[in-house]
Amino acid sequence: MARRRIIAGNWKMNKTPSEAVALCAELKDLVKNDAVDVVYCVPAIDIVPVVEAVKGTNVLVGAENFYIEDKGAFTGEISAPMLKDAGVTYIIIGHSERRDIFGENDILINAKVKKAFAAGLKPILCCGESLALRKAGTYTAWIRRQITWDLDGVTADQVKDLVIAYEPIWAIGTGETATADQAQEVCKMIRDLIAELYDAATAEAVRIQYGGSMNAGNAAELLSKPDIDGGLIGGASLKADFGQIVNA
Ligand code: PEP
Repeated sequence: MARRRIIAGNWKMNKTPSEAVALCAELKDLVKNDAVDVVYCVPAIDIVPVVEAVKGTNVLVGAENFYIEDKGAFTGEISAPMLKDAGVTYIIIGHSERRDIFGENDILINAKVKKAFAAGLKPILCCGESLALRKAGTYTAWIRRQITWDLDGVTADQVKDLVIAYEPIWAIGTGETATADQAQEVCKMIRDLIAELYDAATAEAVRIQYGGSMNAGNAAELLSKPDIDGGLIGGASLKADFGQIVNA
């Protein structure tokens, strides 16, 4: 079974609503490709205008964060049902910036994965090691532990609909990309782990992205690897280059 490629932009905290609509217009013709899932993961305040701006195109909208309760006294937060109702399809969970800057741990991340599925959203679950762990050679154990915790209680059918993004922290926003072989090694290890935790069919179905300074120049080589089914793209998702990555 061939897995469908998924190229997702992570806009982070970068576009005002009017800038977001302008970026959708700039990218509209560049990201046309019916063979690929194209996703813009945008700041919460941009979701409604971006959903409107991409209507009638091949682009799906994702969110960057939510809180695990459906409603109530959680000042400043938004819920998964709110995202779903606004037209969101994908949700980034466990990004290293949320783990490191906002202190999100694997217990919360696991709750978010389960809540996202319950609300009908598809998680893009991020994992990845720091430079220190890469240098120490313990990155495989680290990533296995992250994924095992984050998927505790998640069913095989849900995992078939899951996207896992392998994002080495040392490659995020640094201009330093993992080599295609380094990225493939970890993406294969993740697929093997899913086979171990679930079964071969689930491992075959789960889509695994690479993320970390992916750009128009290196996307084709990374995406040519057998266990890399797409990319999660930060910096390069905010410019025309994103169209070249979608069509790499
Ligand atoms: C990211 O933060 O998800 C990311 C991959 O960023 P960049 O492409 O800028 O390294």
